[in-house]
Amino acid sequence: GEPVQAINETNRGPSGIINVPTRLLMGPGPANAHPRVLAAQTLPLLGHMHPPFLKIMDEIQGGLRYLMQTDSKYTLMVSGTGHAGMEACIANLVEPGDKVMVGVSGIWGERVADMSRRFRGNVIELQAQLGSTLSYTTLKENLLQHKPAVLFLCQGESSTGTHQSLAGLSEICKQTNTLLLVDTVCSLGGVPLFADAWCVDAIYSGSQKCLSGPPGAAPLFFSQKAMDKMQRRKEVPATYNLDLNLIGDYWGWFGKRFYHHTGPVSTFYAMREAMALVAEEGLENMWRRHNEMHHQLWDGLKSLGLQPFVENDADRLSTVNTIKVPEGVDAMALIKNAMDKYDLEIAGGLGPTAGKVFRIGVMGFNAKPQNMALVVEAFKDGLKQQGKLKA
Ligand code: PMP
Repeated sequence: GEPVQAINETNRGPSGIINVPTRLLMGPGPANAHPRVLAAQTLPLLGHMHPPFLKIMDEIQGGLRYLMQTDSKYTLMVSGTGHAGMEACIANLVEPGDKVMVGVSGIWGERVADMSRRFRGNVIELQAQLGSTLSYTTLKENLLQHKPAVLFLCQGESSTGTHQSLAGLSEICKQTNTLLLVDTVCSLGGVPLFADAWCVDAIYSGSQKCLSGPPGAAPLFFSQKAMDKMQRRKEVPATYNLDLNLIGDYWGWFGKRFYHHTGPVSTFYAMREAMALVAEEGLENMWRRHNEMHHQLWDGLKSLGLQPFVENDADRLSTVNTIKVPEGVDAMALIKNAMDKYDLEIAGGLGPTAGKVFRIGVMGFNAKPQNMALVVEAFKDGLKQQGKLKA
């Protein structure tokens, strides 16, 4: 038989009950999940192909249609985080040699450009000025000049706090035969989006932001046009794990259901519950609440003399807010004070905004008045401690 050896007992890993501190997550995500969503995750597991579980997946697809305002059959949750949704869109839409025009207004555009190159797309980057977005005119000119197969835009850029408008693009994209791919990871459910009316062709998002879920499920939508391009591909996508023909089979896109991978059962329970919360509140109410909380936050921050990093009102994202670090303020000390004293997460900048801003998320379950008030209080306390605010 096989040799039996003495077990190495020196490092047994964890023991005892897990201990997690309670924190208010007011950075760019994850936001705190809704208690109903957390409760759903504790329900008993079902098999990933059991009919009651498939019914839950169908319910999620219905919820996504409402959230994204589409009648398309092609909605699902990718098993993975926002990045998995991003990579699923790119791997399936981009064929080697395709022109991919990527709007870059922060790190997410950069990442999509990188990913598109890995799938051998011919990437054309359109760089927005730091803290602003791409204008309709710039987009139009470049679309007409390059006629790309795919245009990527990030609706909510969490690294810079900008909101990219999609207005008027559908007409031009039709003219140039371009598919419009949009990142809505930190905007879906927080700001208006009408997939069908705006002729968006592909969307990916995340579960852990405005949808009040845990990280680990990426909402995804394909239009019929996007589906047609995907099905005309000469070669299968260079990824098995994220091949949407195969994942679509698991979600029943093409009729019969086939096993592709084991769906994250508990995470999908959570997202079913998150979809129910959206349906119960109503999209318009959700958008209004996020907008109102964003304004409440800024009323408080401005009263402390703090200024938005994004200069133009129209470019400012309501769900992830970037706040200039004032001259002489120690951002790290202020962030640490908020955590130590209030169990409150305030985030610093990321990528091009590193060291320049604080970032505050106004998302999902956390987008409520008492949280805005606490964030303002934590800024006030932090500034006072550094002598940057008069008593
Ligand atoms: N896009 C945007 C705009 C994001 O804010 C994030 C997450 N911060 C992502 C993509 C990536 O999502 P994840 O971290 O869930 O993979």
